[in-house]
Amino acid sequence: MKLQEYEFWFIVGSQFLYGSEVLETVAARASEMADKMNASGILPCRIVYKVTAKTPEEISDLVKEANYCDTCAGVVTWMHTFSPSKMWIDGLRGLQKPYCHFATQYNREIPNEEIDMDFMNLNQAAHGDREHGFLGARLRCPRKVIMGYWQDEEVLQKLGAWMRAAAAAAFSKSLKVMRFGDNMRNVAVTEGDKVEAQIKLGWQVNTWPVGALVEEINAVTEAEIDALMAEYTEKYDMATDRLDVVRYQAKEEIAMRKMLDREGCKAFTNTFEDLYGMEQLPGLASQHLMALGYGYGGEGDWKVAAMTAVIKAMTEGMTGGSAFMEDYTYHLVKGSEYSLGAHMLEVCPSVAAQRPRIEVHPLGIGDRGDPARLVFEGHAGTACVVSLVDMGGRLRMICQDIEAVKPILPMPNLPVARVMWRAMPDLCTGAECWILAGGAHHTVLTYDATPEMLHDFARIMEIEFVHITKDTTPEALEQELFLQDLAWKLK
Ligand code: MN
Repeated sequence: MKLQEYEFWFIVGSQFLYGSEVLETVAARASEMADKMNASGILPCRIVYKVTAKTPEEISDLVKEANYCDTCAGVVTWMHTFSPSKMWIDGLRGLQKPYCHFATQYNREIPNEEIDMDFMNLNQAAHGDREHGFLGARLRCPRKVIMGYWQDEEVLQKLGAWMRAAAAAAFSKSLKVMRFGDNMRNVAVTEGDKVEAQIKLGWQVNTWPVGALVEEINAVTEAEIDALMAEYTEKYDMATDRLDVVRYQAKEEIAMRKMLDREGCKAFTNTFEDLYGMEQLPGLASQHLMALGYGYGGEGDWKVAAMTAVIKAMTEGMTGGSAFMEDYTYHLVKGSEYSLGAHMLEVCPSVAAQRPRIEVHPLGIGDRGDPARLVFEGHAGTACVVSLVDMGGRLRMICQDIEAVKPILPMPNLPVARVMWRAMPDLCTGAECWILAGGAHHTVLTYDATPEMLHDFARIMEIEFVHITKDTTPEALEQELFLQDLAWKLK
């Protein structure tokens, strides 16, 4: 499903105490608010006013309906008046959709002349939302709390960002990952419990034989290759005359895409250690598939492949870009400290600062022909890198704030796409924190998904979230990780 096809159900709390006139006003206002919020153009998905809840049955019935409605990606609650929360217990305990408590108020100002006890009885979200908040806390509901005036742009942006995380949760729950070959031999961090990943994140991670892919590659027609070559030359500069090599990448891309689409997979992995019957490691092929929205992970890293797909779904329609990435080399000159991120081939061109070039160069590993790949620099901007690791018994998402810069060196002999960044709080402290938390060398680098969105996603999926910011210290982080470890053992 496309992002804009999802809807979020707006449930407004009240009670019978205030009489039917108040309830009619509440319902009319809730409907008006939903319409105006939709008309703002800020929310990525539609918010649909459903009910002014006055009884436990109304709430429970709507929750049951929401749980089984595929287009409903979450519920948004708000207490226009005081809504005694015992009536929410059954509904909230049964809720299986992402939940946002939107604390707001119909009126922006306290009207000096008009305010009397009737006004107070109608407009009491300030204590209604506290009653509602208590129950959420008492039930330990994983929930997003947003407070602010419902017509303010930054408030709607926050709600919109949460909607993206919730829609990504729906995407995640039906995500299938196709593995060509196993993880790179002996590597630890790309391993993980696939059953746990499916329980928590919904990912169906399965393997298909490389031989089946080779058969599919061999069945690709010249006409199919011609069509994809035309697409390549429209999007990229052909900086090689070895067109036969590029055509082979097209052939690989077409074959992989057919298999992915046939099986309904939106992410895939492969490994240079298992290319039996293939002439090249897919480079350009994987890069172009990522640009089309498929997740990818190198060396069999299915966790990063799936996260790339989830983040691309989360940020649909945004333009900063998100890519499979790997921390490669440091520039440790004092005052000018940067990480150089790249991969041996497969960085998504959605993060490119300029039109990518198709180049052909030898590849030192994998024992196959020189592969075609896209070469470019990543653009400057605020971004973050995300890693998902299996801690044994739980999944941990680690997110680090970074500032990407135009690479400070041209590096004319580096034959791959590259991104250069300053990690927060600084390169060395940031790397200390990352290593303490067990973050992988593979990440998703995203200019579009914010740490708040990723935190929202982690909360919805009930996995651990660690955020390394400009204020993080190794000492505080070490303490946080220690306490998290204890807490997660109790869960
Ligand atoms: Mn790698």
